[in-house]
Amino acid sequence: MEYPVYLQLRGTENVYAVQGPDRFWECTRIGGQWLRQDVVCNTWPDRQRVLDMLEDGGPWEPISSQAFLGPWLEDATEDGQGAFKVKEHVDLAPWTTFGISAHARWFVQVTTMGALREAMAWAEEQKVPLLVLGGGSNMLLHGDVHALVVLVQLTGIEVLSDDGQHVEVAAGAGEGWHDFVMRTLDEGWGGLENLSLIPGSVGASPMQNIGAYGVEIQDRFAWLDAVRLSDGALQRFDAEQCDFGYRESVFKRGQKGLWVIVRVAFDLDRSSILRTGYGAIEAELQAIPKTQRTHRDVSDAVIRIRQSKLPDPKQIGNAGSFFKNPSVPAEVAQKLFLDHPNMPQYPLPDGRVKLAAGWMIDQAGWKGHKRDTHGVHDKQALVLVHFGGGTGLEIWQLAEDIMASVKQRFGIDLEPEVNQISIPRKGGTEA
Ligand SMILES: Cc1cc2nc3c(=O)[nH]c(=O)nc-3n(C[C@H](O)[C@H](O)[C@H](O)COP(=O)(O)OP(=O)(O)OC[C@H]3O[C@@H](n4cnc5c(N)ncnc54)[C@H](O)[C@@H]3O)c2cc1C
Repeated sequence: MEYPVYLQLRGTENVYAVQGPDRFWECTRIGGQWLRQDVVCNTWPDRQRVLDMLEDGGPWEPISSQAFLGPWLEDATEDGQGAFKVKEHVDLAPWTTFGISAHARWFVQVTTMGALREAMAWAEEQKVPLLVLGGGSNMLLHGDVHALVVLVQLTGIEVLSDDGQHVEVAAGAGEGWHDFVMRTLDEGWGGLENLSLIPGSVGASPMQNIGAYGVEIQDRFAWLDAVRLSDGALQRFDAEQCDFGYRESVFKRGQKGLWVIVRVAFDLDRSSILRTGYGAIEAELQAIPKTQRTHRDVSDAVIRIRQSKLPDPKQIGNAGSFFKNPSVPAEVAQKLFLDHPNMPQYPLPDGRVKLAAGWMIDQAGWKGHKRDTHGVHDKQALVLVHFGGGTGLEIWQLAEDIMASVKQRFGIDLEPEVNQISIPRKGGTEA
């Protein structure tokens, strides 16, 4: 059976989305408000309820995903009272960590599923592209954006199951990633501590399978819910369907620009093993005896290391690592090693070898390079920085110059990790 299955209880307004044999969402109207309950069926009577729902000829009748989401349109406005508010010509500088001035032709903040669906319907009606914006920490805007920019601010953190050891927890796409990680640590749930202090939103975290200090979200990922832009269908993706890779997922490849991720769930563990073998974490934790170390200690260590190495976007515009670390066949790595014996190389399980883009950029003489408004960070050559007053195209020009110079020196093609956004007035797409 393919889930979710959308149903309505005959003779009532109540609608249901059966998410699997042991979970369903029930939407009922309480007073003037729609209430959605996520029911996890751990016991026999609840599981039987799911079977009853799916049985032909029972009191539940199938409906479309549109009809299921329809009631939520009623609370579609930002404040729950006025008309749907699309703003015009909004400067996106405050909404992106590069802090580059570029204007969204239309802009809307959505805090409910209804508002999101209304935004999608609006873009469809006006025949304009829609660009999803989270924390703006992984995008370079090449210019003004002739699209409806939708700032996803769906919040809420929900524990879906907890057996005393393992916890399944889901978070709205608009939750801040770092705050979410801190919340999991406050609750004593381990697994995400190495990913502390990564900027951005929970919703964007699966986009590029965010990773740091030996951990990627795929290690703790359970599933995500996403709404398809073309028809509004709500679909659940498991890890396999997300097809995660190094700073990659299906949402950056085949399904690029087709979905809005609305909720992401993680499997966490109160006594998960601490991952301290990567970078300087072990050195940072020297003062704490091994048996006394906690997930929080690892998070604190990661935060200290990151603060000492990476520029804070509040002080200086940047989007973290601008380029991915390339991987090459072993023969290519061997040849490079002969020419450059100091070159860092990391063998991968698939036989390929990962190279350090930052090292190559540094060797090519770019570390600390400055142009009037922008340049390359002086401590971390992988990070391009914006001092103020620059444009996205200027920064992209610098990126192209760096890529050409690394190609010339090492024969390696660098690829940007940061999403390049180019939606000019006469149509166009996210590059
Ligand atoms: C200082 C700094 C350090 C960083 N360190 C790391 C690091 O260690 N590891 C790492 O992996 N990344 C790192 N990053 C990159 C960035 O923080 C992550 O990629 C983050 O997940 C981006 O989230 P965001 O909400 O800001 O995404 P945005 O920049 O808003 O969006 C990125 C892309 O995802 C799309 N998108 C956003 N939200 C959704 C959604 N809900 N549904 C569908 N599409 C969506 C956008 O359209 C865009 O294409 C760093 C960035 C900075 C500035």
